[in-house]
Amino acid sequence: MKRILVTGGAGFLGSHLCDRLLADGNDVICLDNLFTGSKDNIRHLLANPYFEFIRYDVTEPIRLEVDQIYNLACPASPVHYQYNPIKTAKTSVLGAMNMLGLAKRTKARILQASTSEVYGDPKVHPQPESYWGSVNPIGIRSCYDEGKRLAETLFFDYHRQNGVDIRVIRIFNTYGPRMNPSDGRVVSNFIVQALRGEDITVYGEGIQTRSFCYVDDLIDGMVRMMEAEDFTGPVNLGNPGEFTMLELAEKVIRLTGSNSRIVHESLPSDDPAQRRPVIDMAREKLGWYPTVGLEEGLQRTIAYFREIL
Ligand code: NAD
Ligand code: UDP
Repeated sequence: MKRILVTGGAGFLGSHLCDRLLADGNDVICLDNLFTGSKDNIRHLLANPYFEFIRYDVTEPIRLEVDQIYNLACPASPVHYQYNPIKTAKTSVLGAMNMLGLAKRTKARILQASTSEVYGDPKVHPQPESYWGSVNPIGIRSCYDEGKRLAETLFFDYHRQNGVDIRVIRIFNTYGPRMNPSDGRVVSNFIVQALRGEDITVYGEGIQTRSFCYVDDLIDGMVRMMEAEDFTGPVNLGNPGEFTMLELAEKVIRLTGSNSRIVHESLPSDDPAQRRPVIDMAREKLGWYPTVGLEEGLQRTIAYFREIL
């Protein structure tokens, strides 16, 4: 039995990861400051003797004995990471340093939840891992993008300088049950608006694209990466299906049977125009590829939001 630390474990992805790691027979420590996460996401685990929750902030050092660390702590929705951008940068950078220090002391393997945002507003399309990105260093998304980029740098420097056993994944837009209904990300926004009969808010003309991965696929890729030998990454994990925001809005309206209308609101600055992963490396090194298509994943997510709203 491994003892595994999941930072950000009470969040959307982290709580699904805790479920998976417990189902695989591990002992799980979930560390979270509950900024965007919630005890509701892990309530079903609190009575499990192999699960512990620690309310704590990754910007502070912590002493624990662990075999593996998944570092997910960081707000992921633009609305939340821009709420206190200085804190976002601290969470990303000091959080990475603290967790890397812990990995160094305990000789734990450590996986970083990096992001497609390291590619910024990409000039290369679709994005392979070899692309260095096009990121505005002083814009409203920079606290997150540059924070995640520096975290990647720290991971590779701890690896080269101290021999820390690192894994880096670059996650592309992932959605599914337990997304916070008010976190402002596009899939949850559109579904909540459609189910409430409110206007669907498409930012800009809605011709910007994203590639959406269902949460179960992503968690499977994340665990495969942690278990892979002799492979640090960075590796893209995402679903290469690419859709405009207008296409997404139309799908959500059709699948919910909603009467909502599409309205256009202003496009936030530095909003990437296009995004789609090249996943050849994940296929080759991890034998991983997504299996849940957008409509099927949306149906499962809609069922979840119908239940909680
Ligand atoms: P989320 O907001 O649901 O989860 C983040 C969790 O981290 C929350 O539970 C939050 O309370 C916690 N947290 C934030 N700051 C913290 C701090 N200082 N100390 C301790 N805990 C803190 O978001 P998510 O979608 O589950 O994202 C999880 C990770 O995956 C993030 O690092 C995010 O950058 C990364 N990621 C997610 C996506 C996606 O599409 N979901 C895409 C790329 C990267
Ligand atoms: N978006 C939108 N309406 C919304 C929320 C988001 O049109 O209510 C757009 C947003 O401008 C971006 C895309 O959807 O182009 C994805 O936004 P999200 O915040 O989910 O993630 P991002 O990939 O931008 O970090």
